[in-house]
Amino acid sequence: MLDNLTQRLAKVVKTMRGEARLTEANTAEMLREVRMALLEADVALPAVREFIAKVKEKALGEEVIGSLSPGQALVGVVQRELAALMGADLGPDATQLSFAQQPPAIILMAGLQGVGKTTTTGKLAKYLKEQKKKKVLTVSADVYRPAAIAQLESVTKQVGADFFPSSASDKPVDIAKNALDWAKKHYHDVLIIDTAGRLGIDEAMMQEIAAVHAAVKPVETLFVVDAMLGQDAINTAKAFNDALPLTGVVLTKLDGDSRGGAALSVRHVTGKPIKFAGVSEKLDGLEAFDPTRMANRVLGMGDILALVEEARKGVDAEAATELANKIKGGGKFDMNDFKAQLTQMKKMGGMSGLLDKLPAQFQQAAAGANMDQAEKQVRRMVGIIDSMTPGERAKPELIKANRKRRIAAGAGVQVQEVNRMLNQFEQMQTMMKKLKGGGLMKMMRGMKG
Ligand code: GDP
Repeated sequence: MLDNLTQRLAKVVKTMRGEARLTEANTAEMLREVRMALLEADVALPAVREFIAKVKEKALGEEVIGSLSPGQALVGVVQRELAALMGADLGPDATQLSFAQQPPAIILMAGLQGVGKTTTTGKLAKYLKEQKKKKVLTVSADVYRPAAIAQLESVTKQVGADFFPSSASDKPVDIAKNALDWAKKHYHDVLIIDTAGRLGIDEAMMQEIAAVHAAVKPVETLFVVDAMLGQDAINTAKAFNDALPLTGVVLTKLDGDSRGGAALSVRHVTGKPIKFAGVSEKLDGLEAFDPTRMANRVLGMGDILALVEEARKGVDAEAATELANKIKGGGKFDMNDFKAQLTQMKKMGGMSGLLDKLPAQFQQAAAGANMDQAEKQVRRMVGIIDSMTPGERAKPELIKANRKRRIAAGAGVQVQEVNRMLNQFEQMQTMMKKLKGGGLMKMMRGMKG
């Protein structure tokens, strides 16, 4: 995700050290870097231009307060504007689904073929059923690919929602109306209508989905777009936004190696909030989209919130909350906490999903590393911690040469590996200290280096 932006910003913060104010000249240099990074991340040019203009305007009026350097102050402006561009300017409620409709509340899914519409329909059904306690019915108006109807039936059954069967010989508008009648009769709270997607934008498809929209008047019309599409996302977003009164966007495949530009461009083109992000092929891989958190992630400040949330969802909710409270309350992050974190990573099904949420310096360390290798590494680290005494775990600073040798022998590794592990622990401890005192500004000060 936009890792070049992180690196470029860090560079500018460094070069701007020693300057007392934000001036036209030093701001211009930084903005050039930001512009390059956004273009490299596949953000569309008009979106980049508007973004740069906004940052420039805000930066020149920005007072450099307290111990912030001008570079850090500028990063602050970039962070705020990035969050705004991704939807923070719309307010916290903008990403919520609306149910303001005589039940059932209807959600119409729109988008090209292959972007993840059907999968997202299943994910939404699961989310609405489990998180919002809604009775959900799904229906497929994709009469061109019989397999599409069967696929929706399959994902709907998997999440335990109700499915309204349709047939390839029916008309999409009739399918939608019949499903609506059925949903009313059976007291469903929500009806999700999956629609046909073509490989490219075509007039007939737009007319068909517009007709379905007119027939059932959904309270939500979600445009599903693949984050990996990059620049191509723009044209599609424009076409759908012109043809339909969209109410929101779902950005899928954010777990892939997308350069993240689509998030910014699609929001720019449609003006509509990104409500959800798809983060895996599995049916629980849907996250509420949080613009501020996304901006922080893009800027490489890591995402401790997401980590804690992930942990909460996973196995060891109590441990995660305990750790968060301990750190917040000024407690020391010790070897036991480190082990708990490592173990959770393992339990949460691998490192790849977590990688994205760690601060940039960790991501860099892990970039290119083979995931199997990384997981093996985690197991070895846990082995090393297990070879420590309780006293050493609580006070890792006790561990000097003799103890290192004993621990290494106990874990069956070389002493260097124990050293490396202690270094990693220290880095984590430093990060935790920074996060404790109120997040963002401190993290930025940390970027000075
Ligand atoms: P549709 O043609 O738009 O209905 O697309 P599908 O729902 O059939 O999805 C197309 C492919 O994308 C499938 O292989 C899905 O498993 C995959 N997919 C959908 N959403 C995500 C996501 O958020 N992450 C990943 N990695 N894959 C996804």
